Order: sequence, then structure tokens, then C-alpha cells
Amino acid sequence: MESTLPTADFMGFESLLSPAESAKLADVRDFLDKEVAPAAEDWWNRAEFPIDVLPKLAALNLSTPVQQGYSYLFGGMVIAEMTRADTSLATFFMVHHDLFVEALHEFGSEDQKARLLQDAMDLKITGAFALTEPLHGSDVAGGLATTATRDGDSWILNGAKRWIGNGTFCDYMLLWARDTADGSIRGFILDATLPGVTRTRIENKIALRTVQNADIVLDGVRVPEADRFAGINTFADTRTLLRGSRILVGWQAVGQQLAAFDVARRYAVERHQFGRPIAGFQLVQDQLVRMLGNTTASLGMMARVAQLQEDGGGDMPQAALAKAYTTARMRETVALGRGILGGNGITTDFRMAKIFADAEAIYTYEGSYEINTLIVGRAITGLSAIN
Ligand SMILES: Cc1cc2nc3c(=O)[nH]c(=O)nc-3n(C[C@H](O)[C@H](O)[C@H](O)COP(=O)(O)OP(=O)(O)OC[C@H]3O[C@@H](n4cnc5c(N)ncnc54)[C@H](O)[C@@H]3O)c2cc1C
Repeated sequence: MESTLPTADFMGFESLLSPAESAKLADVRDFLDKEVAPAAEDWWNRAEFPIDVLPKLAALNLSTPVQQGYSYLFGGMVIAEMTRADTSLATFFMVHHDLFVEALHEFGSEDQKARLLQDAMDLKITGAFALTEPLHGSDVAGGLATTATRDGDSWILNGAKRWIGNGTFCDYMLLWARDTADGSIRGFILDATLPGVTRTRIENKIALRTVQNADIVLDGVRVPEADRFAGINTFADTRTLLRGSRILVGWQAVGQQLAAFDVARRYAVERHQFGRPIAGFQLVQDQLVRMLGNTTASLGMMARVAQLQEDGGGDMPQAALAKAYTTARMRETVALGRGILGGNGITTDFRMAKIFADAEAIYTYEGSYEINTLIVGRAITGLSAIN
């Protein structure tokens, strides 16, 4: 019966893709259905990252899709579909491709690109994005405490980073530090195996358990000048990069809601109480419709953001509104879905508990709900409440 019901993309936003993009998205779904969805709960329960999936993921040739000529809408829908199958794999993909590889595209010298870009796009080497610190999260732009000191043809790095996704196994980290000479911001392509780099896995997480987040300590790490991004001197230089990543987190919030709706509707149609499917009860239908409304509103907002990106976008406080709004709707959607599964909603055996828990990471990273709200507040009032 379920196959005859409408999909969670109730208003058909996918029809805005070109035929070639729709066909490619179908390939992505096929890969996710076969290689990811059946194993995702097991990876999550064991908190292990599926390194062996990477060659198959690389074969899809999806690295930095806009650079390859696809639309922003397609890039966003790929992230939503990946998240729908496994939020952790989508997060790996975004950290590697949309931060690390995208930064190589945007800021890399010809030498850096020649050395790393193709292997990074093919997932032969993996990257991380190391900005957050133990004592500076939301205020890291002003508070960045990791230092870089020039010493001849190299730099000496000291400090600590926290929450770094892919941090335990990556080959390189795009790492941010403050120049001790003049306080400006420096970005490095740090070889993660250099002497003085210590990486420790963050244990006992309740969200994105498959993602390997690390605490990083840098103790007198010597990095060649050739591994610095020469074009970056302030955080403003990274604006487009971080804006793109923030928008993709909005797409993750869409994917999380698509997944929650899929699972909750299937369960509600199959689960019988009082002699009939619980989907037949008015209160359960109300909950499913609220989930669908949230999902559709989020999808519509993200589709419009993709149009703004095509048009250039500027500073785009709209990206901050989209991240804040979609993640707030997502939190309600996954909670409704969790409730529809009753007791079975609290075990990952029925998928929903993982969807519910992973939503918490999406709510917090790439600027928490509050920080994105304050960015929009500043844009609409002309008054900054952040500092
Ligand atoms: C699973 C996961 C993966 C991550 N991956 C990475 C990564 O790969 N690389 C990386 O660099 N970072 C990563 N992060 C870090 C993430 O970006 C930070 O967690 C986020 O920026 C928030 O910082 P914080 O956790 O230090 O919280 P804090 O900044 O300490 O904030 C705590 C609370 O205070 C609120 N708050 C703070 N300031 C204000 C204010 N002015 N007004 C109102 N409320 C405020 C926040 O909204 C939040 O609710 C990851 C985080 C998680 C959870």
C-alpha cells in the first residue's frame, strides 16, 4: 500500500531539477539504498565509521557538484538524500567535500591543488575542518586562541581544537590559527600525521555516533609555508565557504525530516491498536500532517535559498534564517515522529531513535540556532546583539 502513497516531497520540489540531475539523484538513491541504509544503524550503534564505503561513494563522482556544473539545488538535494539515509555519512561528506575540498578549490595555490585536489575529490585522501576550540565555539571568530608563529620558511602551531569531524583518521585538516605577529587569521592545510599533533576520539556521543569527532592538541607543530592558504587573512575571507556549508546544514534538516516522515508514516500504517492501523486515528493523522508541513516548508525555503545562491547571494542572512528555521522545524518533526513510534521510538532497531538523536547535532553545528537567529536579528534591525 505504501508505494501508492505520495512521497514526503509532497509538493514535488524535485521536479525543479534538470532531467540529468534527476537521473543522477536516482543513482545516489540507489547507492544509498544498497550500501548505506541497511548498515547505518549498525555503524551508529558501534560508533564506527565505514571507511570501506568510501570507494563506492567516490565512484558517484559527486565532489563539489557546483564546481562540476550542477545546480545549487541539486547539491542541496544530494545532501538531503544522504541525510535521509544516514546523517553521519552526509556529515562526513560535507566536512570533506564542502569544506576541505571546496577550500582547496577556492583558496588553494596551483601547487596545493596539483598536490591534493584530485586525490581529495576521489576520496583517496580525506580532510577535516578544524576551527572550534575547547574554550571557543560560538565566539571562535573573535576568540580563536590557537597560534601560528612564523619561523623562516615554516610556521609553528600551538593550541587545541575540539569536535573535529573525521579528525581521528583524516590525512589533512584545514586548520585555523591566529598569527602571533599581527593577530590576523591564518588557514593551514595541516598534515594530520605531523609530529606534535595528538588526536583523541570524543566518546559517548548521543548524536552522529558514526562520525569520528576528535579533540586535537597542537604542540609546537612545524608546518611549511607552502601548506598555508595565502589568500586568507581574516574570517571574512572564508565567508562564502562557511555560508555554503551553513546552507547545506539546512538541507540536512530537510533530509532529517524526510527520513522521520518516511519512518513514522510507514509505522503508523502498519501498526495496529484498538483493532486498526494507528494511521487511521485523527490525532495521529494530525501529527503526520504537521511533520509533512514542516518538511515541505523547510524544503521550499531551501529551494529558494538555492535560487539566491545561483544569483550570487551576497552576505545572505537568508542562509542564517534558513538554518535556524529548518532546524527548529526539524526538532519538532523528529519529536512527533518519535512519539508516533511509541516505545519502539526509543530503540535504534526501528530507525527513529537515531533520526531523533542525530537531529541534535544538526541543531547545534554550523552556528547554533541562537547564533543564526542573532545574525538574522542584526540584519533586520541594524542592531547587533552578539557583541
Ligand atoms: C557533532 C558535532 C560535529 C562538529 N564538527 C565540527 C567540525 O568538524 N569542525 C569544527 O570546527 N567544529 C565542529 N563542531 C563544533 C560546532 O560548530 C560547535 O559545537 C558550535 O559552533 C557551538 O559551539 P559550542 O559547542 O562551543 O557551544 P557554545 O558556543 O559554548 O554555546 C553553548 C550555548 O550557548 C548559546 N550561546 C552562545 N553564545 C550566545 C549568544 N551570544 N547569545 C545567545 N546564545 C548564545 C549557544 O547557542 C548554545 O546554545 C561540531 C559540533 C558537533 C556537536
